[in-house]
Amino acid sequence: MIHLPKTSRLMASAALGALMLTAVPAAAEEKPAAASAAASAAKPELGTFGFDLSGMDKSVQPGDDFYAYANGTWAKNTEIPADKSNFGMFTVLADLSQTRTQEILEAARTDPNSMIGRAYAAYLDAATVEAKGLAPIEPWLNQIRTVDKAGLARLLAEADRNGVRHFFGGYVGQDDKNPDVYIYTMFQGGIGMPDRDFYLKENERNTRLQAAYLKHLENVLTLVGEANAAARAQAIYDFEKQIATVHWDKNDSSDATKVYNKMTIAELAAAAPGFDWQTFIRGIGVKEDSLLVSQPSAFTGEAKLLAEAPIGVIRDLLIVRSLDGFSDVLPDAVAQEAFSFYGTALSGTPQMQERWKRAVDFTTNNMGEAVGQDYVARYFPPETKAAMDQLVRNVLAAMGDRIDGLSWMQPETKVKAKKKLANFTTKIGYPDRWKDYSKLEIKADDLFGNALRSNQFAHDDNISRLGGPIRRWEWGMTPMTVNAYANFGMNEIVFPAAILQPPFFDPHADPAINYGGIGAVIGHEISHHFDDQGAKYDETGKLADWWTPADVAAFEAAGKALVAQYDAYEVLPGEKLDGTFTLGENIGDLAGLTVAYEAYKKSLGGKEAPVLDGLTGDQRFFLGWAQVWRRNYREQNLSQRITTDPHAPSIQRTWVSRNLDPWYKAFQVKPGQKLYLTPEERVRIW
Ligand SMILES: [Zn+2]
Repeated sequence: MIHLPKTSRLMASAALGALMLTAVPAAAEEKPAAASAAASAAKPELGTFGFDLSGMDKSVQPGDDFYAYANGTWAKNTEIPADKSNFGMFTVLADLSQTRTQEILEAARTDPNSMIGRAYAAYLDAATVEAKGLAPIEPWLNQIRTVDKAGLARLLAEADRNGVRHFFGGYVGQDDKNPDVYIYTMFQGGIGMPDRDFYLKENERNTRLQAAYLKHLENVLTLVGEANAAARAQAIYDFEKQIATVHWDKNDSSDATKVYNKMTIAELAAAAPGFDWQTFIRGIGVKEDSLLVSQPSAFTGEAKLLAEAPIGVIRDLLIVRSLDGFSDVLPDAVAQEAFSFYGTALSGTPQMQERWKRAVDFTTNNMGEAVGQDYVARYFPPETKAAMDQLVRNVLAAMGDRIDGLSWMQPETKVKAKKKLANFTTKIGYPDRWKDYSKLEIKADDLFGNALRSNQFAHDDNISRLGGPIRRWEWGMTPMTVNAYANFGMNEIVFPAAILQPPFFDPHADPAINYGGIGAVIGHEISHHFDDQGAKYDETGKLADWWTPADVAAFEAAGKALVAQYDAYEVLPGEKLDGTFTLGENIGDLAGLTVAYEAYKKSLGGKEAPVLDGLTGDQRFFLGWAQVWRRNYREQNLSQRITTDPHAPSIQRTWVSRNLDPWYKAFQVKPGQKLYLTPEERVRIW
């Protein structure tokens, strides 16, 4: 799991990567998107105008369940593949990226001079992996087995560099209050399940997961030949539960103000006695004295727990974390064991991906930009970049108009908000300065070593940011990623090549579909910079107070109404959505769809949109929005997301349309229908 600092993504899951700078003026000239000009030139990929009508369920009233109306037949007829926890439009494109990357890697594999070819070949060579057994990881495990309390800080620093998760996480990122300077930021760690709630929240599902996790701990210890595994597994579990108790919850941990705690190493040592912070932080390679500690009380609690715990429990926990972290590059028995908990128990996925898919993912995750150069040359037409650039300008211009028209924002704040918008950097497709992997050694017969050296390379690269200029060219996703993100410190919005495809964007589709798809995605990322966290950052990317108290009060009141709306959604029987945890994403969806709609209307230049297959332009716009959210989940995956995913599930994301007046008119939604809100109940923020 890679931590993307201070960014908000379109959906969960992403990889780390690194350009182009396209500053987009806020007052961009209004023009219809290039998409509309091309619309009649060739056939769209889906249906006759870019929407798959056969996936609708017209027996459902749109006002009762807009998701089911637009997507019900698709949902009923679509099975989730055995190697997936969920399946939808994002997955269809992710599969396409995977297949295309496979073609690139199959070609590279025959070239001994190709780094990505060797990485892929080493992964596919399962026989060599099995023959080596656990030998490649034994030297590291032996370091863990012999560590004492005095050597722990040094060992954890090494674990950090090796990519083994332990009690504290960290990365070098921009200093929120001084965004021209990098700083080392630390966050709580030490638990093997994804969130403290899995240990502490009492319910039937968590009881089952806790038992499965305990069994997993035991199985891993057994696999590496440790005696007395059951009792030792219980001791690890009890220790992790204590750690979970001192952890901050996910809402506090996502609050940019609360997690900004600058301290010196000496101050941290005084606040969190019991652990050798100086040795640990210097061991990581940090030479600066100042750092940011995200959850200070958790650090105090964890340091105390580490001081009190028997060294044996700490060793055992690190052994399990090491095996789980490298499970994918060790013999199949280890990989299957990790998958049985993290894949099956936690996410409901019956089986692991085939080896070639995992080989593609491994290469993409560790040297994604080396693959990305080939990918964009083959699969990203320059016209897409040009059309996207125009769409972004149109949506940004619409956002500017929305800000001008806000009734709740003070005029002086509007000036600043417009300035922030004018300062946006937009990145489209791929970086124009690629990451240099020449220092990374990849061998065709050493999969474990490749994984270890890749982790060390990524760590060293991250630490080397300290003291240097901000690397504004870097990307946090690869071109093959089907996602998008907003980065607050950089004041940027980023759209990788792979999301700029149908159903999100099709140069041959009706503009209404493109505005409802990629237009709303653009709006979503723009709006993140004005969501409950993003709005705290000014036009330079600095965490600062730039609003008047009246603005803050009005914004928070509107936010509260949206929190209540999402709090009320029962996703699974007895399992409700957390409106606070998902607020930033829900503001992104609400404002994003609103601003995309305005941009669509403006693109028509005052003319009425044509009726296609009996559907008006407005109807098609909202159907385009609903279509990108087609997704079926396994129950376990959906349940896990309620606790770990800041995004609402696809059904509820689609329903955000109930806050937009034009949706009511387009589908004749009436009082008494399930999604109906009175005009006063509809939440309007941006
Ligand atoms: Zn988002």
